[in-house]
Formats: sequence, structure tokens, C-alpha cells
Amino acid sequence: MRLVTFSHDGSTRIGRLEGESLVDLAGSNLPGTMMELLEANALDAAARAEGPSMPLGDVTLESPILRPPKILAVGLNYADHVAETGMEKPAFPMIFNKQSTSATGPYSPFHRPRVSDKLDYEGELAVVIGRRCRHVPKEKALDVVAGYCVANDVSVRDWQIRVPTFTMGKSFDTHCPLGPALVTADEVGDGSGLAIRTWVNGEERQSSNTRELIFDVPTLIEHLSTAFTLEPGDVISTGTPGGVAVAMKPPQWLVPGDVVRVEIEGLGHIENSVIEEPDTATGF
Ligand code: ZN
Repeated sequence: MRLVTFSHDGSTRIGRLEGESLVDLAGSNLPGTMMELLEANALDAAARAEGPSMPLGDVTLESPILRPPKILAVGLNYADHVAETGMEKPAFPMIFNKQSTSATGPYSPFHRPRVSDKLDYEGELAVVIGRRCRHVPKEKALDVVAGYCVANDVSVRDWQIRVPTFTMGKSFDTHCPLGPALVTADEVGDGSGLAIRTWVNGEERQSSNTRELIFDVPTLIEHLSTAFTLEPGDVISTGTPGGVAVAMKPPQWLVPGDVVRVEIEGLGHIENSVIEEPDTATGF
């Protein structure tokens, strides 16, 4: 099943994709947001619920989880990306946060910040947690997965590396496009064996397969839940393969007008254009 969060006629709701149309679930007895749906453990009900059908082209798709409680991400999780950065293969998963405010829609533009032109893409498989959990053993990890989506871990490289933590450089507003849908785990299993590719303006930059993950999805869930509770709607972005802009010689930083497409087998694609950070974002 593919569940989406969408906006139409001034309201934001959830729906179920069926080919090129969606079933609007707002009129059903289901909770009104994806977060509430996951907290209510109501995926089965969402699969059965009925509602009016509308063409996908008539709506704006939003991030499946509008504002995930946590967005956890993993650095250096594909060998070819480790090699291109000149770093050592990590002995433990290298975890960092993206702030929940960085989430944006699968086809929404993202910003080139006022303060940097070192803007980069990272196509990634994202896992969405479906159950509150702690100390999840690897063998049980899939029990807590609601599903998967495509992510772009947009990165501001100078801000990322000029201090010891990645938090600022990974968390600019709009720098976590997610979508296009939450594809439930029954269709995707443990998320391994999926082709993943990224294009910039139609030029292929990344091409790999999620079987190349150094730390796979079950391992990441076991590791993360050792330290803290994972909650419904939490997103784990599992790391990017080789081919990012910073590793090109010379680096091919993203500029306004560029279009970045990330596609994962079985999950669909997200496609986001780059715009200058608007002056009006905060009123300051
Ligand atoms: Zn990343």
C-alpha cells in the first residue's frame, strides 16, 4: 500500500494511491494525519477504507510525515561513498540528526541558503517507524517498520564540516525532501536489494543498490533503539552512495534552477528544484 499526505483546496489530508489516482481518506473514520494514523496502528484499516477517488495530478503531494518527531540519518554507509570522502569505513553507524523542520514535499523546491553556495544532494532510502519501541533486536526490527520512502539528505558542505557536528549543515529548512508515498513494509521487506539512483538535470550522478548498505535497516534499528525510544513517524535516512557533488573534481555544487531526482526501485521518485532561499521566510 502507498499512503500519501496531500494538499487540495486549502486543506491537507491523507490518501491511498491507486495507480494514477488517490483515494481521499478524509471522509473515512480514520485519523486525519499520517502521524495519527501510525500512532493508532491503523494501516490495515487504511488499506480497506473507502473514499472519493481523485486524479493524482489534481493534488500537491506533501512529505508523507509532515513533521517527523525525529529525522535520524547515517553518514558513510555505502563503501563507494566512504572511498570518495577519503574517510575510514566506520566501525559503528555514524548517526546524526536532521531537524524535523527540514522535512519538505517530494516535489517541493529546496533552498540554496543565503550563507553558502556549497549545496549538495544525497539520494537515500528512508525508513519510517510505525511503533513506539526500545531495545529492538535485529530479528524483530521489521515489526516496528511502517514503511519506506525516498529521501534527499540535502547538505551544506561548508557548514557540515567546519565544526565537529553535522547538525547545522544538514538541517537547513527544506533540506529533507521525502516521498512520494509511504510504501508499507509488506511491499518492501527489509529495504535491501533496491536500486537507488540520483540525477541532476537529467545527468546520472548516483547509482547503487541498497544491498550495498554497510549497516542495513535491521542493524540500524537495533543500534538506534539501544539508546533511545523510536516513535511512530520517526524517519531514519540510511545514507547515500557515491557520486555526490563534493566528491566531483571540481565539485559541481547545486545552483538555483537545478533539478534533483532520486528514484528507488519499488518506491517511486522525488524530484526537487533548487531555488534561492526566499527573503520572506521568517520576516527578518
Ligand atoms: Zn546522508
